[in-house]
Amino acid sequence: FISPLELTGEGGEPVQAMAVYVHDLSEQQRLERMREDFVANASHELRTPLASLTGMIETLQGPAREDAKTRDQFLALMREQADRMKRLTDSLLSLSRIEMRSHVRPTEIIDCAEITRYAVEMTRGIADEANVTLELAVAEETLPIRGDSDEMVQVLNNLIENAVKYGSEGGRVLIGAAREDTVSGPVVAMSVQDFGKGVPPEHVPRLTERFYRVDIEESRARRGTGLGLAIVKHIINRHRGRLTVRSQLGAGSTFTVRIPLAEVPEPVSRPD
Ligand code: ADP
Repeated sequence: FISPLELTGEGGEPVQAMAVYVHDLSEQQRLERMREDFVANASHELRTPLASLTGMIETLQGPAREDAKTRDQFLALMREQADRMKRLTDSLLSLSRIEMRSHVRPTEIIDCAEITRYAVEMTRGIADEANVTLELAVAEETLPIRGDSDEMVQVLNNLIENAVKYGSEGGRVLIGAAREDTVSGPVVAMSVQDFGKGVPPEHVPRLTERFYRVDIEESRARRGTGLGLAIVKHIINRHRGRLTVRSQLGAGSTFTVRIPLAEVPEPVSRPD
């Protein structure tokens, strides 16, 4: 390691430059480490179902060749593992597409009231299966933002699906969308509240990390990939928004997304 003091240049100011350099380097190292961790995690997540598929194929080719019952059972399990790999590769693709666009601001004006209603309709099937009731409270007015409607639907879908997965069984999930005035100006606030087990406070800051899960077995059992909230975070960042999580153990969680409200020009009223 080079000590900053040894790096004095022409006018002595390189000392300061060195400080910046050291900072940049560690930031670069941090990003590189994150990338390596991500690749290692993704490979591991894909190899697990793959190994189990290979094992079952070998059993079917060998010992269980003539056993119809085992074959049916294994085929069902193989289907599950293949579905899991599909979910994972779909999420990885989503994440990478969003990351590629991360520096491009969405320009289109979209209505979050409509998007919230749409996302709730899309997730009703999943909620019904889990015997969860989705309750919607959306402002009557339009809630314009500059955004990408597919991405915003995905944000709400991921949050609603999580609320259904980790909420209370047979319980309710409340979904809201309204205008809010904040110190940094008017925003559209969309929230998803469940009454499930909640998130232990020490885990909250890490929830949006890729592959971070409070309980990996539970996430697997509920068809989680550990990428849902990472995708949510990336989309919200691209929209210059914020995600807040309020959670109480045993009482439930509220995930709220706030995106700056867009200025929409007043429709020009034409004199008759
Ligand atoms: P997953 O695919 O595992 O659900 P996410 O990125 O969507 O991945 O969420 C990360 C983790 O955050 C989950 O595994 C779960 O432990 C926790 N989590 C997310 N939403 C909730 C919620 N509504 N209530 C409790 N825990 C949650």
